[in-house]
Amino acid sequence: MTKEAKRKGIEIGAGLLLYLIAWGVSEYAQMNRMVETALFLLPYAALSATTYRDTILSVIKHRVFDENILMIIATAGAFFVGRNKEAVGAMLFYQAGKMVEELSLSRTKKSIAEFIDIRPEYANLKVGNTEKVVPPQELQERQIIVLRPGEKIPVDAIVTVGSGTIDMKAITGESKPREVKAGDRLYSGCINLSGVLEARVARIYNDSTAARIMRLVENANEKKSDSVHFADKFTRYYTPIVILIALMTVILPPMMFVEAGGEWIFRGLVILVAACPCGLMVSIPMAFLGGIGAASKQGVLIKGGTFLEELPRVDTFVFDKTGTLTEGVFHVQKVFPHKMAEDELLEVAALGEAYSMHPIAQSLREAYGRRLDISRVDGLKDYPGYGVRVYVDGREVYIGNSRLMNRQGLYYQPVKEIGTAVHVAVDGNYAGYILISDVIRKDAKKLVRWLHKRNLATVMLTGDNERVAEDVAKEIGIDSVYAELMPEDKVEQLEEFMESQMEGEKLAFIGDGINDAPVLARADIGIAMGGLGADAALEAADIILMEDEPARIINAIKISQATLRSVKQNMIFAIGMKVILIMLAFFGYVTMQNAIFADMAVMLINILNSFWMMKYPE
Ligand code: ADP
Ligand code: MG
Repeated sequence: MTKEAKRKGIEIGAGLLLYLIAWGVSEYAQMNRMVETALFLLPYAALSATTYRDTILSVIKHRVFDENILMIIATAGAFFVGRNKEAVGAMLFYQAGKMVEELSLSRTKKSIAEFIDIRPEYANLKVGNTEKVVPPQELQERQIIVLRPGEKIPVDAIVTVGSGTIDMKAITGESKPREVKAGDRLYSGCINLSGVLEARVARIYNDSTAARIMRLVENANEKKSDSVHFADKFTRYYTPIVILIALMTVILPPMMFVEAGGEWIFRGLVILVAACPCGLMVSIPMAFLGGIGAASKQGVLIKGGTFLEELPRVDTFVFDKTGTLTEGVFHVQKVFPHKMAEDELLEVAALGEAYSMHPIAQSLREAYGRRLDISRVDGLKDYPGYGVRVYVDGREVYIGNSRLMNRQGLYYQPVKEIGTAVHVAVDGNYAGYILISDVIRKDAKKLVRWLHKRNLATVMLTGDNERVAEDVAKEIGIDSVYAELMPEDKVEQLEEFMESQMEGEKLAFIGDGINDAPVLARADIGIAMGGLGADAALEAADIILMEDEPARIINAIKISQATLRSVKQNMIFAIGMKVILIMLAFFGYVTMQNAIFADMAVMLINILNSFWMMKYPE
C-alpha cells in the first residue's frame, strides 16, 4: 500500500469512529444546534483536513479547480444549512472513493513492474578457480561470470564456454527458447534454461538491456497522453460550470416559485456532489497504464501514452527495406571477378568491410568465412548510402554500389541480374562485383496484408537499387517504392509525405535503427525493430519491437485500439451518469450520500473495465 493510501485509511477510520460517536450522542442527548454542529465537525475535520490543505494550496499555486473544490463547497454548505450528518457522510464516501482510486492506480503500476520483472538480483563472478556471488551492479566489463540453469542473466555478456538454451520471454515476448553457444550474445533479464555457461561481461549493469528497458517503461508513465491532458482541461472548465449551475439552482427557482429557499440551497449543494468527476478522472490514466503494460508483455515497448493514442490514427506506414522488411542477411549469389581471382576478390571485399557495421559488410565477411588479418586494413571511410573506402595492404580500395563508382569516376561492369551488386575497385582499377541478395521476412507479408485490409497505405524507402526494391515490394505487396535514396533523402521524402497528410492523420516509420535514426525521430511515430542490442533504436524510436518481427505492430495497434475504446466507454458512461444524477439532484430525488455513492460505483465499474482491457486485449 502506498503512503498516500495508508494516510487516507487512517483518516477514514478516525472519521468513521468519530462520526458514529457523534451520531449516537446526538440521538440520545438533548442539545442545541450549535453543540450538535460542533460534534459533527470533529469527524468532518478528521476526514477532510488534508483535503482542505491540499486544495487551498493547489488553487493558490496552480489555479487548479478540481473535484476537491466541489466537495469542499458542498459539504461546508451542508453544515451551514444544518445538514450535518449528510455533510460528514458525503465526505466519508468521497474519501473512501479516493482511497480505492489510489489503491487501484498503484496496483496497476505495480503489476506493470511485476510482469516486466526482469531485475537480476545477483551474479556469479569467476575469481581464479572459485566463484563469488556479487550484486550485478558491481560487475566490470570483461570479467567472467558463470550461469547455471534457472538463473537470470545479470548483465549483457558474450558466451565464452558452454552452450545452452535461453528463455527470452521476459524481454522479447517470444516463448520459444533460443539456443546459444560460445560467441553468442546474452541479454540481461533473460533466463538460462539449460546448460552451464561462462560468459564475458560486455556491458556494465546500467547499460545492459534489463536496466534500460526498466528505465523506459518507468518513464513512459510520465509522458502524458492527449486524453490525460483532455481530462485536465476538462476539469478546468467543468468545475466552474458546475458551480454556476448549482448557484442558479439556489437563486432562480425560489424567485419563480413560492417554495422555501432553504430547500433549494441544499439541492444546489447536492448538485455539486453529484457532479463530482472522480470516477472519470481515475479511469483514464488506468487505461493507459494498462495498455502500456499489456504491450510490454507482448514484447512491444511503448514510450508513452501519447503513442498509444496516436497509433490507431496512423494512415501511412513507411518501411525501411534492408533489415526491416528483409532480414538484412545477404547471401552471395555470384562472384564476378574482373582481372582477378574469385577468391582474391572475396578476400579484398571482406577485408575492406572488416570494420563496417552495415548488414552488407557483415554478410561479405561471413561469405569469406576465414579469419581476417585486420592489421592489413587501415583508414576506413564510410560513405552512407554508397559504400566504403579503405586501404588494404596499402592499396586504395572502394567497395559499394554503382553510385559510388560513378562518384569516384571509376569504370564498372553493368549488372543484369536482379540483386544488390557490390562493386570493388583496387587502386583505381575495377576488380569485379559480388552479387548478393537478401531474404524477405516471413511475417512482412502478413503485416502488409493486414494493413491493406484496413485501407492503410504502405510505402517502402530504400538506399538499394530500383530493381531490387521493385522486386521486394512486389513480393511483399507494398503500395509504393522509393529507391536509391541517401539517408538524408529518406528524411526529405518522409517530410514530403507528412506535408501532404490531412489534419489528424499520422505517419509511422518502421526501421531497424541502423542508419535510419534521423527518420525514426522525424516521423510522428518511429517504430524500431530489434530493441536488443541496437542502442540508436532505443533512443530514437517511440515504439520498440523487441523481437525482429514486423507483424508485432499488429498487436501494438490492437492494444492501442482497445485502450482508446475503454477510455471512450468510461468517459461516455461517467458523463452520462453525471448528467442523470445532476437532473435527479435538481428535482430533489438524491441525497448527498447517495450522490457520492453513485460516483463511487461509476469509478469501480470504470476501473474494472480498464483492468479487463489489460487482461484481455483481444
Ligand atoms: P537501406 O535503405 O536498404 O537500408 P542503406 O542506406 O543502408 O540502405 O544503403 C544503401 C546502399 O548503399 C546499399 O544498398 C549498398 O548498395 C550501399 N552501401 C551502403 N553501405 C555499404 C557498405 N558498407 N558496403 C557496401 N555497400 C554499401
Ligand atoms: Mg537500413
